[in-house]
Amino acid sequence: MEEQGGRRRRLVLVPYPLQGHITPTLQLGTILHSRGFSITIAHSHFNSPDTSNHPDFVFLPLSDDSLSKYNHSDDIVAFISNLNLSCKVPLQELLIEMIEKQEKCEELPCIIYDPIMYSAEAVARHLKLPSIMLRTTSVTFALSFYVYPKIQKEGYTPFQDSKSLELVPEFHPFRFKDLTVFNLKSVDDFLQFVTTITNLQTSGMIWNSIDCLEQSSLAQLRQKSQVPFFLIGPMHKLFPFPSSSLLEEDRSCISWLDKQTENSVLYVSFGSMATVEEKEVAEMTWGLANSKQPFLWVIRPGSVLVSESVDLLLDDFKESVGERGCIVKWAPQKEVLAHSAVGGFWTHCGWNSTLESVSEGVPMICRPFSADQKLNGRYVSHVWRVGVELENGFERREIERAIKLLMEEKEGEEIRQRAAELKQELQLSIQKGGSSYNSLNELVELIMSV
Ligand code: UDP
Repeated sequence: MEEQGGRRRRLVLVPYPLQGHITPTLQLGTILHSRGFSITIAHSHFNSPDTSNHPDFVFLPLSDDSLSKYNHSDDIVAFISNLNLSCKVPLQELLIEMIEKQEKCEELPCIIYDPIMYSAEAVARHLKLPSIMLRTTSVTFALSFYVYPKIQKEGYTPFQDSKSLELVPEFHPFRFKDLTVFNLKSVDDFLQFVTTITNLQTSGMIWNSIDCLEQSSLAQLRQKSQVPFFLIGPMHKLFPFPSSSLLEEDRSCISWLDKQTENSVLYVSFGSMATVEEKEVAEMTWGLANSKQPFLWVIRPGSVLVSESVDLLLDDFKESVGERGCIVKWAPQKEVLAHSAVGGFWTHCGWNSTLESVSEGVPMICRPFSADQKLNGRYVSHVWRVGVELENGFERREIERAIKLLMEEKEGEEIRQRAAELKQELQLSIQKGGSSYNSLNELVELIMSV
């Protein structure tokens, strides 16, 4: 991308401290730094990013001592609420100090916040600082936030973990079973959270998405929100970014991939949060073994629940598959998906993973778990048609069938062809004159004007 000199205005980026949100926030920081802005990352102690990879940024930790009592996998809304509560005052104090130290002629800092860190918007408003929202999920997920209060009013409850195949009114092609599932203690708290997020004030919304990917959702959301949108994705393709992984990447899998033939390997990874049970791991091992396909499998520490004998199970499995399989704790995923040996991705459909796969033209087997993943999975399999869905979760025969379909059969070949075409569209969007390219220039103009 072409450089364009921005004034050295300071941008304070406030990420939500989970891997899938930290990565795009740091990527945006790098992109805007290259446009001449100074970057500060105001982050919680919890999941603090690795500062060494970003020597040009200033990192300001916000005290979040009271957070240790809350676990995001038990009750996400309580976790978010307490995170916002504990970070609000420290953020305000940091910003006041920053403004006081500033030269008279300098522009006020601009806050770029993840909407889940909604207290940052309140602080910006209180200090009369400009603020812009960074949405790290899909446009469709944001649109779904307008759907929840409506379907509840119309009596469609409970919508949590619904198995219903009925289409959600005015939200096609999604079914009730595709709606978000969170671990929640209270649906009312969730609806309150949804209302908070949809009513935040902002001078604009930045999206890690692309015009051509979500046209229908985009048109609908534009009717509901009057602020300018900047779709500048896929951000990870704009620069050779340094790693923003919270876990150490095991690069040995790249040497293993180097030895495999083109498009032969199935990459298996469920992101940074999803957990599986031991019996599901057992089904996965059977499905992978019977498919006879080479695979690279990420088993993140702590991702297998109730794992009394999983080590034994995996040791036996590794012995039986030998060199055909490679198992690591955490992979350099973007590099893996860009590797010519990788021909398929069995994914949980986190938004970053979905974008990373689509950007490389890698077709997917979708096994979404929670949050926005079911919506993303539905897009992959039914709108873009670049993947297949595992409808029954983890069942060895279905897994084997899906792998064979994607990696060996004619239907898989057609899916791969569509994935290659979508990859090309995305490549065009970031080139000069493309939609993401233009949007980024418009964003830089907005930041300089607010
Ligand atoms: N990731 C990675 N190595 C792994 C697994 C995942 O680097 O072994 C990265 C992946 O590239 C993506 C992020 O972790 O950028 C996961 O984000 P996503 O939105 O897909 O899912 P989440 O972790 O939020 O559920």
